[in-house]
Amino acid sequence: MSDLAIATQLVHAGERRAVPVGVPAATPIYATSTFVYERMEDVDRVVEGEIKDYVYSRYGNPTVAALEEAVARIENGKFAFCFGSGMAALHAALLACELAPGAVVLASQDLYGASLELLQMVFGSFGVKTVIADFSNIENLREKTQELKPRVLIGETISNPLLKVLDIEACARIAHESGAKLIIDNTFATPFLCQPINFCADFVVHSATKFLGGHADATGGIVVAREDFDRPALMGALTLVGGVLSAWEAHSILRGLKTLGLRLEKQCRNAERLAEFFSICPYIDSVIYPALADEKQTEITARILRKDFRGAVLGIKLKENSRESVYRFMNALNLCTRAASVGDVFTGIVHPATATHREMSPARRAKLGISEGLLRVSAGIEEVEDIIADIEQAFETITEKKFKEQKVGCFI
Ligand code: PLP
Repeated sequence: MSDLAIATQLVHAGERRAVPVGVPAATPIYATSTFVYERMEDVDRVVEGEIKDYVYSRYGNPTVAALEEAVARIENGKFAFCFGSGMAALHAALLACELAPGAVVLASQDLYGASLELLQMVFGSFGVKTVIADFSNIENLREKTQELKPRVLIGETISNPLLKVLDIEACARIAHESGAKLIIDNTFATPFLCQPINFCADFVVHSATKFLGGHADATGGIVVAREDFDRPALMGALTLVGGVLSAWEAHSILRGLKTLGLRLEKQCRNAERLAEFFSICPYIDSVIYPALADEKQTEITARILRKDFRGAVLGIKLKENSRESVYRFMNALNLCTRAASVGDVFTGIVHPATATHREMSPARRAKLGISEGLLRVSAGIEEVEDIIADIEQAFETITEKKFKEQKVGCFI
């Protein structure tokens, strides 16, 4: 090496050293786009699929593969592929359903706003028709499915932002009776609370940017499949569209995954306490939380979600149902973040009308119940009484009225 010019040594020195014999305890970040082999014949065998190894990171990377294996296992799927974002994952899952011009997608009216836009704007421009339906009305869903013969039904385990728990079991039955696939966005529930494949969903999609990563430091998406025969279609959507996840992001999400159970346990308990707190708060008109839902929803929640868990997200409607009062309240928060996300270790409050459902027409938002005064609260892992104290002081600031110095969380 020392007889080479400095320009050459700068490129090659230190690279491709022997792999250590000791196995790393944590998955290393394979920050490499390509993989080098001693012999061309070996490259050929890897490309041919005779040997399971890596050639080029768009086709596979060991750090990303570790995350894929982990999520496939905890979601009880056959395999998983990672993507650069939740939206890329949703796009790929839809592509894998072989949507051709004229095909129909039946989408839950409660889908995340951008998911509906993806269907209408991107797939719509290729002649795929999206019909929006109320997935909580199972009889109506069955009728619509039989009438429209959709290729795909798509819904969310816990909807965003109205937190309706979906009867995945019934949706899968309806989809399969008509030869359609069922895609479930499990972002809000995570596999810790629900494994949609156990209810026969065909594809499970995650925005890993949310609970799976959990620390607001990585953007990613994952698709898990129930059946091996969907592998070529999903692989094509990954490698040809090319929205792959980087090894750096995969590493962060993989690390986040290890504490998902601990985080979610605390976040769900905090959310329950916050629901209780908001229920008696004089400035709140109503609280949306699966634990407070009607009998039908309670039965579905008990069947679909992990026993005694109702999720880490809740909705609150301010009595003063205006954007101005929402902004004043949010601006007065010191601890709770105004971050446009969900599922992080910190408590985050979002205004759906100007964030997740900004592109939706005001009339449609009003029809769905996404009012100007609606806020989505994602409980973090902080001490819950500190979260409550921050919300109390925010209300005190904007109303210039003191809460009674009683037990924290009790209002006059
Ligand atoms: N699915 C749900 C339920 C979401 O809330 C989001 C983003 O907010 C997405 C998908 C898209 O995920 P990403 O932002 O990682 O693309």
